[in-house]
Amino acid sequence: MDILDKLSIIESDAVPKEGARIENLSTSLKITHACGCVLVEHFACGTPTGVRKDEEPEKYERLQAERKYFVELCYAHNPE
Ligand SMILES: [Zn+2]
Repeated sequence: MDILDKLSIIESDAVPKEGARIENLSTSLKITHACGCVLVEHFACGTPTGVRKDEEPEKYERLQAERKYFVELCYAHNPE
């Protein structure tokens, strides 16, 4: 499961959004959902190197997401 799969799970309705705890850390935002899933968004993540957005948009998007987000799924939402 790559970062985009994890993102789609944590952003889906499967993960309850009510009761989430949001911590504003100067260069990132950490959202801890009530179930235990954690999403961290880094603001100053830069852009991927070695891949061109216009040539390999899907790869670029995945690399960008890997830089920008950290996702830790709780036991209930981690299918692995
Ligand atoms: Zn969860």
